[in-house]
Amino acid sequence: SRPTTSIAEVLPWRARIHPDKPALIVGDRSFSYVDLDTLSNRVAAGMRSSGVRPGEVVSLFGQNSWQWIVAYHGILKAGAVVNPVNVMLTGSELRYVLQDCGARALFIGATEYERVAGELEGLPLLACVTLDAEFDTLLDGADPGSVPPVDCRPKALGSIGYTSGTTGHPKGAMQSLESVLLNCAHTAAMHGKNADDVILSALPAAHVYGNVAINGTFLAGGTVVLMERFDPVAALHLMQLHRVTVFEGVPAMYSMLLATDDLSAVDLSAIRVSTVGGQTFSPLIIEKWEKRTGAPLLELWGMTELSGLGTTHSVYGPPCPGSIGVSLPGTEISLAPMDGQSGEVSAGEPGELMIRGPLVMLGYFGNPAGTAEVLGADGWLRTGDVAYLDQSGHAFIVDRLKDMIITAGYNVYPAEIERVVATHPDVAMVAVGRRPDPIKGEIAVAYIVPRRDARPDVADILQFCSERLAAYKRPRDVVLVDHLPTTSSGKLLRRKLDELGPHAPAQVG
Ligand code: ATP
Ligand code: MG
Repeated sequence: SRPTTSIAEVLPWRARIHPDKPALIVGDRSFSYVDLDTLSNRVAAGMRSSGVRPGEVVSLFGQNSWQWIVAYHGILKAGAVVNPVNVMLTGSELRYVLQDCGARALFIGATEYERVAGELEGLPLLACVTLDAEFDTLLDGADPGSVPPVDCRPKALGSIGYTSGTTGHPKGAMQSLESVLLNCAHTAAMHGKNADDVILSALPAAHVYGNVAINGTFLAGGTVVLMERFDPVAALHLMQLHRVTVFEGVPAMYSMLLATDDLSAVDLSAIRVSTVGGQTFSPLIIEKWEKRTGAPLLELWGMTELSGLGTTHSVYGPPCPGSIGVSLPGTEISLAPMDGQSGEVSAGEPGELMIRGPLVMLGYFGNPAGTAEVLGADGWLRTGDVAYLDQSGHAFIVDRLKDMIITAGYNVYPAEIERVVATHPDVAMVAVGRRPDPIKGEIAVAYIVPRRDARPDVADILQFCSERLAAYKRPRDVVLVDHLPTTSSGKLLRRKLDELGPHAPAQVG
């Protein structure tokens, strides 16, 4: 028998243990483990008959759907390298990704195809299959018995995940087969996932956090309720309808859930744990959601370069508020001095977070120079995040190194200012950006989405900050806006902040 190194081994394994158990619910459709296993075998066979060879790259571009999940597993079962692409990308950005990773075939949502078809011309694709009736035709025409065994060596390239592009151009992280499987297994263990769990996820399946939420649940034999896209009212009703036990989301999703009128009306008594991560956020989110559900909301931290999480909390462990938890087994974390010098960083002092172990990517695809910047010969990955460690080994994120504002020689972290401003009663959401300044070099500027019906006074907010932040950390200006720029997974796009102009406060939050 083949070694169980690939996440693609999970559906056949679960299909033998409990064939008829519901694995995936999307809208009014439900798929058992056997259904998903059989359908993905057919995709694998279809890929092979289209001429895709093992080791070649197949891209996947679409909203969350059952077809997306089946295609993901089918591509891996064919021994091809899967490249899940962020569905929010424009046609030209998609073209960049497909060319960058040398995609040989593409699965694409029908609406996305209409939107970007013009940009696909001239690409050397053996097949371009829309995830609608055309996908059904591929399934029907395939002979699922015809897929030969594939390379499942732990370090074989399994997927290429593009980073979110929060700080620049997305980079294609080469993820080993073992990194994805281990990440799903360790995360599921940390969160106590089991076959009785029903998880709700609206995270994009193409993002590592969404991928680990889904495949970690399959590994545990639970049921995934998948939303095509996030809507807070619909999410609350799905939690009640399916007696959801685990909700997984980015901070913006929790902010929206907590601002919904339906929040108090629905039955959330089945929820036993929730998870949050992907960016820095206000601790108020954790406090309020835990109070409403009576269950822990566990923070996690991760990156595409780790195929998912690097650290999280255990559902069985003591709480450690404000921390991103402890590293996953076999994965070491350490801190490097921020000035690029060698030497030790003492406990409680900030440094650049470093990670080593089997989760770390093989490198950036086709980009040895980019790889050398972050991945040392000793195996340590520079994460670009500033963190500190406490005595017990819990890690705390300060902010991204690239977001650090240097004002009159002082290092100021936007996340620290945001946490303070978020506690102002008139503030629904806040993000802090930088602005060039002739004297201080740069200054911090707070962009605020006011709470519904609130009319915040800029002078009052500046005063509020001066009572709570050291002088050098205070924002020097406040701009009222009606929304904040985000990526498709809901992450704040800090570099887009300066494109926001001053606005009249709108009805938000
Ligand atoms: P790019 O690398 O292209 O700029 P990105 O870093 O946003 O984009 P991802 O791999 O999706 O791409 O995100 C990883 C980053 O998300 C981490 O390096 C960190 O900055 C941030 N992050 C993840 N979880 C947390 C968390 N719990 N707290 C703070 N930041 C987090
Ligand atoms: Mg990054």
